[in-house]
Amino acid sequence: MTDADLPLPAGLADIFLLAHEQSPLMVALFDAQDVLTYANKAFRQAYVIAPDGRLTWADMMRDNHAHGRGAAIETDDIDAWLAAVTSRRGKTPYRAFEADLCDGRWIWMTETTQLQGSMLCVASDISDLRQSGRALRQAHVKALAAAQTDPLTGLSNRRHGMQLLRTSLSQSEHWPICIAALDLDFFKQINDSLGHGAGDLVICDFARLLQAGSRREDGCARIGGEEFLLILPAAGLPQAQAIVERLLARVRLSRPLANEPARGYSCSAGLAQAIWGEKAEALLKRADAALYQAKAAGRDQVLIADAEQ
Ligand code: GH3
Ligand code: MG
Ligand code: MG
Repeated sequence: MTDADLPLPAGLADIFLLAHEQSPLMVALFDAQDVLTYANKAFRQAYVIAPDGRLTWADMMRDNHAHGRGAAIETDDIDAWLAAVTSRRGKTPYRAFEADLCDGRWIWMTETTQLQGSMLCVASDISDLRQSGRALRQAHVKALAAAQTDPLTGLSNRRHGMQLLRTSLSQSEHWPICIAALDLDFFKQINDSLGHGAGDLVICDFARLLQAGSRREDGCARIGGEEFLLILPAAGLPQAQAIVERLLARVRLSRPLANEPARGYSCSAGLAQAIWGEKAEALLKRADAALYQAKAAGRDQVLIADAEQ
């Protein structure tokens, strides 16, 4: 941002940074790739962050979990935990929640996200506030998260995926919006020849590639057994097509089964760009129709939906 965009009195930025450095509020800024670009002293202490290095939010959480410090993360499977939290992080312009730290403190965390931009995190220590109802509030937060999450992959479930899509469609700054309906190819063969467990591993591998290949503001949901929805805000058809083609290329190269190292898999996709006024269900129906055509045309490809159905 230049001075012309936001005329700040000379020296104000320095004063502002100094004030943050001395504040008990925990303040941090992440960029669009979720790399930590600024953290004040209180934030660095809370999450035990070394002052150097290119640290992403996921790195931070992995480190905290591995060393039992910083954020209190109750899980045996940090990858599944990260997938689940990533499916909610940065998907709305603002969210706030209560969280606990390993040092016993409770914080009220707020996240303000700019589309394709930075995320500002500001947390305050609420350890001294009324304890009553805390267990109930935490149970409520956990129940809400569970109701939004697919238990196998950690992605958003169908209901949450559709909710994310409706939210995106209602926000003018998200336009143009594209979605992709994705379905794994010949998946029954994997189940039938290698068993349901192997099938589940392939589904999880795909979910991981889908999330890894998407931007923070994108929505990733498992909307059926081996059917997925990718929501791409602020993306026109050429950009969306490039993202999905790249995903399909990564899927083609993946070999997720340790016992079957030669066994790969593929996926087909139908891409649709939202039309102004179109309902989420109608948009998904168009993407599904294009997916069906991609299957009929030989699979392992992405086809674009007609604007009219
Ligand atoms: P196509 O290329 O036409 O998509 O062929 P397909 O064999 O993938 O056909 P379809 O998409 O209809 O197959 C879906 C199969 O996915 C059927 C079902 O047994 C399996 N399935 C659904 N949910 C799960 C799950 O959670 N785990 C496993 N392992 N399999 C599942
Ligand atoms: Mg299939
Ligand atoms: Mg299917």
